[in-house]
Amino acid sequence: MASAPVSASAAPSVLLPTYARAPVAFERGEGPWSITADGTRYLDFGAGIAVNALGHAHPHLVEALTTQAGKIWHTSNLYTMPEGEKLARRLCEATFAQRVFFANSGAEANEAAIKMARKYHAAKGHPERYRIITFEGAFHGRTLATIAAGGQQKYIEGFGPKVDGFDQVAFGDHAALEAAITDETAAIMIEPIQGEGGLRSVPPQCLRGLRTLCDERGLLLIFDEIQTGVGRTGKFFAHELSGVTPDIMSIAKGIGGGFPMGACLATEEAASGMTLGTHGTTFGGNPLAMAVGNAVLDVVLAPGFIEKVGQIALRLKQSLAELKDRHPQVIAEIRGEGLMLGLKLHTPNTDFVTEARAAGLLVVGAGDNVVRLLPPLIIGEADVTEAVARLDRAASAVEASLKRPAAE
Ligand SMILES: *Cc1c(COP(=O)(O)O)cnc(C)c1O
Repeated sequence: MASAPVSASAAPSVLLPTYARAPVAFERGEGPWSITADGTRYLDFGAGIAVNALGHAHPHLVEALTTQAGKIWHTSNLYTMPEGEKLARRLCEATFAQRVFFANSGAEANEAAIKMARKYHAAKGHPERYRIITFEGAFHGRTLATIAAGGQQKYIEGFGPKVDGFDQVAFGDHAALEAAITDETAAIMIEPIQGEGGLRSVPPQCLRGLRTLCDERGLLLIFDEIQTGVGRTGKFFAHELSGVTPDIMSIAKGIGGGFPMGACLATEEAASGMTLGTHGTTFGGNPLAMAVGNAVLDVVLAPGFIEKVGQIALRLKQSLAELKDRHPQVIAEIRGEGLMLGLKLHTPNTDFVTEARAAGLLVVGAGDNVVRLLPPLIIGEADVTEAVARLDRAASAVEASLKRPAAE
């Protein structure tokens, strides 16, 4: 399997080989379906890792993007952007936030969140409070600061000195968390449900505990809702399941419906250090992204949409529980919330992802030997039935390989 990476043409790929790309290329999409040039249809329960929140080629998003494309693409943040003002206002109205900064990706949204937390304390006369506590298994992006925040050695290794200012504690270790807080701590940063880390949910009482701890110690609470946000968990944002709100929240993935964008949302107080000239971006908040973001909210915030996500998610979770009972040798546990579900496996998750693809279903691996199901939020009953049938075939194929002699 050490052959050159497959590219669309016969020539070897000249892309950096940083991804183990599957030898399949999609030409177009229709709702939850990804389709290759030869017409092979895959049921897309990865949605580009929770990005295509409304599936492929959603008519309302296509209309918003193409209409905007015919007007103006880029103006720069030197000028007022009405679509951006509108999107920011809508995000604030629907959440805890009073301030929004638009970026182009999740990592950039987190960079803004990290800078904001540090600046908050610096502006209050405490520049020494710059350290941020994060959790083992976290994923916050691939920039120099966000790999330090995520703390995973495999991402940090070989890239020079790790960016200073991140203290990682074990997931769920309350005593370690208390002990990690010093006079230099600025904030605690956490994903309400770890995505890349393997669909590990932070129990609601722990999120409430973090809120109390932050309030008592004068720390800012940052939620990374890049994967969990925009309806994915059956709430607009996952923290709503716990009843507490953060001071700062990063979002990306679903808010663009497939168009690259991110945002850092904050309370007025938490954002108070971010004054004129303290941060910036060339592309963040551009008219194309803002038009699509508003179109995504038109759909997701329409009455009943998120409730429907919760209902179909329940149906999927029930079917997965039955699937687990049928394949106890393969599936160990069902995890997650809403349409952010994981199958914790006994067998290698990479094999399962390959078998699922062979059965015409796209799913995504995660840490802790988990297979992630992140379907678009628009799936219906028939899609759930079809996906579970294909998962069943994948699990049976994995089982069959277990029964073959090891020498093979
Ligand atoms: C995807 C993701 C990121 C990074 O987003 P990019 O757009 O790849 O930079 C950060 N945090 C979480 C929780 C994510 O799921």
